[in-house]
Amino acid sequence: MEIQITRSQRRRKTVSARMKNGVMKVNAPVDIPEGKLREIVERFRLKFERKSKITELSRSEDLAEIAEKLNRRYFNGRIPVNSIKYVTNQNSRFGSCSYRRKTIRISHRLANMPAWVRDYVIVHEMAHILEPNHGKSFYDLISVYPLAERSRGFLLAKGFELEE
Ligand SMILES: [Zn+2]
Repeated sequence: MEIQITRSQRRRKTVSARMKNGVMKVNAPVDIPEGKLREIVERFRLKFERKSKITELSRSEDLAEIAEKLNRRYFNGRIPVNSIKYVTNQNSRFGSCSYRRKTIRISHRLANMPAWVRDYVIVHEMAHILEPNHGKSFYDLISVYPLAERSRGFLLAKGFELEE
């Protein structure tokens, strides 16, 4: 990523950054120490990179389509999913679900894992739309997915928390 830093002569106190045509343009106070500026610029860079990663992911793979397929295959299409998307702020949780809004978020880390593991996570979160807790009826729901146990082992090995 190309980075352009402008030190503003005007009396600004904070560093700001924006993306323009693939270039990160940074505005910094004139008197900010070099080390501190480098730190802030790095944080901005990571943030913009995460954003473009999300855009890339949602282009290359339509999660909604996958969810719809799994919904038909395992739940007779009876689970109402309003939206499903990748997020980059879930590193130890593989996914989350808003029971009331019927929305699902999947950790972007799943995008690089085998499809059967990703599918397990989607099935798991879809089941939460019907059953918010991890009780017996929840496990009955996800038992239709044949690789549930193997997927849980895989996720555990990758350092995900298995929210029991
Ligand atoms: Zn769960």
